[in-house]
Amino acid sequence: QAVIEIKGLQKKYDDTVVLKDITEDVKQGEVICVIGPSGAGKSTFLRCLNLLEKPTKGQVLFEGTDLTTLNEKKINGLREKMGMVFQNFNLFPNMTVIENLKLAPKKVKSISDEEATKTAQDLLDKVGLLEKADVYPTSLSGGQQQRVAIARALAMNPEVMLFDEPTSALDPEMVGEVLKVMQDLANDGMTMVVVTHEMGFAKSVADKIWFMADGYIQESADPETFFSHP
Ligand code: ADP
Ligand code: ADP
Repeated sequence: QAVIEIKGLQKKYDDTVVLKDITEDVKQGEVICVIGPSGAGKSTFLRCLNLLEKPTKGQVLFEGTDLTTLNEKKINGLREKMGMVFQNFNLFPNMTVIENLKLAPKKVKSISDEEATKTAQDLLDKVGLLEKADVYPTSLSGGQQQRVAIARALAMNPEVMLFDEPTSALDPEMVGEVLKVMQDLANDGMTMVVVTHEMGFAKSVADKIWFMADGYIQESADPETFFSHP
């Protein structure tokens, strides 16, 4: 069962064609790692999946609904079901960790403060940061901030998680703790699309590798196949 269907996706900026013609599916529970050289269009591609970037041509269907035909309000509604994690965490610096997690659920869903707190605490526990609930993000390490960012995305109870180079801004010693949280999510059955340079993660966690270069997905293969050829 496809959660996301990408059909003939193209993205141009003025006369630069970044994505040329991409047709792929993301199935329920699949972990897809998008890899490829810098400038290949990976980040642009990921941002087209939740319409942070508007495709120039083609369709992106989320659970059967073509996002490219929707107005901004309806896109926002569906975007809530696609959690996104960025390279630079993007946490709200003037809110505590738990306030970061509670903000969107309280705003969008009609849930009580108690319920939002309970969910936030459960998620912080899951990423190993319950004891940091009441501190401000800037007092945390990069690895801790990124784990908070993942928990914050999960607080909306998304169907899919999109990761844009989630470990690229981290000191090397913090990469492992973030990848571990992502691996746990994958083991829980989360559908994930991960743009990454972490080949170890791609090899051991991905169900499928999409190799992107020159605006195309040049190869789509299981990791064993992908990493076995020269
Ligand atoms: P990757 O994530 O694979 O490194 P990107 O998607 O970030 O690649 O970028 C692909 C190409 O698209 C780059 O040449 C980049 O400069 C260009 N690009 C990305 N965003 C824009 C934009 N808003 N306007 C013009 N060009 C852009
Ligand atoms: P990253 O590689 O972390 O995605 P980039 O430097 O590629 O960072 O892009 C940062 C921001 O700048 C993005 O919003 C992207 O769309 C925009 N951008 C990238 N390249 C260009 C460009 N050539 N012209 C205009 N905007 C760009």
